[in-house]
Amino acid sequence: MVVLYMLYYLITYHIEKGAVMKQFQITYHEEACFRKELQDFKNKCEKDGISKMMFQIYSEILEPDTVNPLCNVIEQVFPGVPYIGCSTSGNLINCQLSEEIIVVATSFEYDSTQFKVFQYDRKKNSIEWITERIVEEARQNPWVKAIEMHSTIPEGSTTQFCDGLKDISPDVQIFGGVSCSDDITSDDSCVFSSAGEYSESSILIVFYGGEDFYVDSIKITGWKPLGRKFTVTKSDGCILQELNGIPAYDVYRKYLSINNDENFFYNTLEFPLFYEHNDTTILRVPVASNADRSITMSSDIEIGSTVRISYGDPKTIVEIISEDSQRIRKFCPDLLHIFSCAARRTFWTSNEPTYELEPFKDIAPAIGFFSHGEFIRTNNCLNQHNVTLVIAAMREGEAAKTPVLDVSKNRKRLSKIPLVSRLATFISATSLELEEMNKELENANRNLRDAAITDGLTKLYNRAETQARIEKSLANIKDSKFSIIMLDIDNFKQVNDTYGHQEGDRVIITLANILRNEQMRSSSNFSAGRWGGEEFMLLLPDTELSAASLIAELIRQCFENTTFPNMRSQTISLGVTQATKEDTQDTLCTRVDTALYRAKKGGKNKVVVL
Ligand code: GH3
Ligand code: MG
Ligand code: MG
Repeated sequence: MVVLYMLYYLITYHIEKGAVMKQFQITYHEEACFRKELQDFKNKCEKDGISKMMFQIYSEILEPDTVNPLCNVIEQVFPGVPYIGCSTSGNLINCQLSEEIIVVATSFEYDSTQFKVFQYDRKKNSIEWITERIVEEARQNPWVKAIEMHSTIPEGSTTQFCDGLKDISPDVQIFGGVSCSDDITSDDSCVFSSAGEYSESSILIVFYGGEDFYVDSIKITGWKPLGRKFTVTKSDGCILQELNGIPAYDVYRKYLSINNDENFFYNTLEFPLFYEHNDTTILRVPVASNADRSITMSSDIEIGSTVRISYGDPKTIVEIISEDSQRIRKFCPDLLHIFSCAARRTFWTSNEPTYELEPFKDIAPAIGFFSHGEFIRTNNCLNQHNVTLVIAAMREGEAAKTPVLDVSKNRKRLSKIPLVSRLATFISATSLELEEMNKELENANRNLRDAAITDGLTKLYNRAETQARIEKSLANIKDSKFSIIMLDIDNFKQVNDTYGHQEGDRVIITLANILRNEQMRSSSNFSAGRWGGEEFMLLLPDTELSAASLIAELIRQCFENTTFPNMRSQTISLGVTQATKEDTQDTLCTRVDTALYRAKKGGKNKVVVL
């Protein structure tokens, strides 16, 4: 399927179908030697009829003095051939770590296959401008099926950048990595390409596509959430200040007894925060603890996000990766591009840092690097991840055949679930039960609170709550004027006597529903309470007397026009008054009661203002 030709080592791949996309690797040591090797490679390409290609360069060294001569040689030996490159925290070649500077040439076979390189400088252009350009370029090149991105370490969040690409056709896969350097805690990084110069503030974009070009991309972490949920209550960009109102560092100290010392980063690495965003799970690593007990994270987490501490257990990680790698195997790729978080390299420290990439080794030749952040578009949304493994698989032409999956091998491995994984499941299940119990308790408390202020028959506020609200409004009368309306059903005794108590109840409920009606309350957002029997009290905030009397009249008419089955229509009388600074609850209620009394005296079914 693919032949990987290397000038320093030679790895032979099992060939299952005609050679399509190929990768050739040259290790860069110094200019003169590289020029000769590149020239030899060019001669070989001419002999083999290879003409369509691009170069990728990955280097832990980011000095322009190293990078620029290398780029010059490529430009001189292969004029016009596109190339991209960036600094890394370790290069990946065929799923192995390489600390050498790697130059990989990828050749394409199909006439239909196209690719294009762009470079945008964040210092020269706004993110908005850059994303608009990328979206526009994608629109103008409808053959695009995949966009690969390499970005230097951004100053803050990449959310604006990621969201800015949302208008790119949903069929286009987007993936890539943030460049890095050999010092994982440093902010130094660079990118360079045939489309721009060496830069410490740029974004590289590669479009791939064409009729016969196929691509798939996945993200895998292997980390699993552990224990209770927290809400991000205070954060500012990458600074996570509070979880559930508690300083973020205190959460790590309380639940994991991690100290605020120079080992903080290495100790928390196994326990990044796990949360859902854009329908996908995202990990963020605490990078440093600060004097104010906030934590600097590897990227931003929005306020309001529900996060959980997650754990990384080597055995579990390897098993999850092995399972998820099957999708890539099924795709039958010609080659893989791998972006693995530098934090993963640190996590595996004493073990081989590429141990977890074992399942991909025999799938296809692979290049990539240990990155500062990983990009992948999932569910139509592009996100920047951390502690994540992003794998892009590419192929020219149809897949040869679906490989037979070795399921039995997998099942055997999965039957031996590590102890730590079982304990984590136990902790998560216990916290979930506690959370459910808390939710039930909260609901029960809310119901109790509601019952204490609600009238049983009408579900309006009861008298005590209505009085409390009037009292509160009187206390704030300096800031806002308010009015009250008292109303009482006319000749209600007759209703009970003629139609029975139950029918009487129905009339009371109908009146309560009118008072609750959204449309009725739209003119003044009044609150309605049952004062007793068939008497009600309305509190109208910020309402002058004239407006209150209009609302009273509206309610009167509405009730009068309401028909009851087997019963003549009913009426109400209403008293209206406005509160003054001198009022007490007593004087105010007496005044509205007098107004109501006058309405009754004056023949009922009317509004009296006092
Ligand atoms: P007025 O026009 O002067 O208000 O005459 P009225 O007959 O309505 O007199 P009043 O307001 O004094 O009568 C209230 C009646 O309402 C007395 C009581 O039996 C009845 N009542 C009080 N609470 C309820 C209740 O919850 N359901 C029913 N069906 N009737 C009630
Ligand atoms: Mg009455
Ligand atoms: Mg009454």
